[in-house]
Formats: sequence, C-alpha cells, structure tokens
Amino acid sequence: MKIVFATNNLNKIKEVQSLLPSNITIVSLASVGCNEEIPETKNTIKENAIQKADYIKKRYGFDCFADDTGLVVKALNGSPGIRSARYAGPEKCSESNMKLLLSELKLISDRSAQFKTVIALNINGKSLTFEGICKGEITHNKKGTGGFGYDPIFKPDDDKKTFAELSLERKNEIGHRGKAVAKLVDYLNFL
Ligand code: IMP
Repeated sequence: MKIVFATNNLNKIKEVQSLLPSNITIVSLASVGCNEEIPETKNTIKENAIQKADYIKKRYGFDCFADDTGLVVKALNGSPGIRSARYAGPEKCSESNMKLLLSELKLISDRSAQFKTVIALNINGKSLTFEGICKGEITHNKKGTGGFGYDPIFKPDDDKKTFAELSLERKNEIGHRGKAVAKLVDYLNFL
C-alpha cells in the first residue's frame, strides 16, 4: 500500500516510517507535486490534522494521512498548544520556542505537560482520526541533541531522559506520535 504523508517535516517522516510495516510505503508531498505550505488555521489539534489531510485529498486526489501535534503545558493553561510551531513568532524557530517556554515557566514549580498528536486519515472515501498522548514535564534546561522541536526540554514520565536524549526507537515506544501511529497501523492492517 502506498499512502501520502501530508508533511514536509523530515523528522516526522523518519519517526513514522520506522513504525510502518514494510507493506506500507510513505509517498512524499513533493512526489505528488505538492510544494506549497499546507494551511493549518483551525482551533484544535484534531481540526488542524483533518484540515491538512483534507487539503491533500481534495487538491491532489490521493489517499493520505496528516499529523498535527501540540505541546500542552498545564501551568500555561494549555499553551503553546495549537500555537506550538509559532509560539515565539512566525519563523517557527524551535530554539526561540524553547527559550520562550523556559522563560514563561521560570518561576513556576508545576512543570507538567503533555504532547498530543492527532493523525487524520483519508482513505477509500472514509475519514478517521487516531490520537496519541505522552505525559511528562518541561525540564529547566535543554538536554540532548536528538529529535526535533521541543524534544530537548520534554522529559516523558516513562523515562529519566528528555526525548532529545532518547533513541528514535525509544521515543517511538513511549511517545505521542508512536502511540497514534500504532492505532493507524492497526487500522490499515485490517483493510
Ligand atoms: P506541527 O504538528 O508540525 O504543527 O508541530 C507543532 C510544533 O510542535 C512544531 O514546533 C514542532 O517542532 C513541535 N513538535 C511536533 N512534534 C514534536 C515532537 O515529537 N517533539 C517535539 N516537538 C514536536
């Protein structure tokens, strides 16, 4: 089975590809002729994931799935949430986003947070969503060089290290995206 993954984020592709069985192959946006930025203008993670998957299906006609992820911090009333990519500005700079988040939490002791991923799938005329959540906390400093985005400052409850210190396999095993992809794969395997 070939299916389009509606993202230009190579880190997401790497994580997801490594979780898919060999009979499911990801087709890139570039190879279906999509080179533009996909709109992401809704008010929830789920709606954004659906918006991205619908955009590709409607414009390009391919079965596809899209991932939308947000980092939800309890003490900040759920921020950055759907604004995770542009938290510190339109440049979508991970370094600036982490810097801002650490400064917002400077005087706050409750550092609990969770990553939430929703994968929206459009296949055979059907639309479905799959969710994955990973609970943890925001560290006081950046640690590790792996992963992407907020990984250096997120320590999952299920490990002592930040996501950026973990292998891809371990992040996938306990992480938000890994959990959502496992549900996606279960569904695709039954088609
Ligand atoms: P989006 O799903 O591409 O809209 O991602 C929103 C923001 O969250 C971006 O700043 C990403 O870098 C960040 N992000 C998404 N997934 C992860 C992850 O697995 N770890 C750390 N940051 C992530």
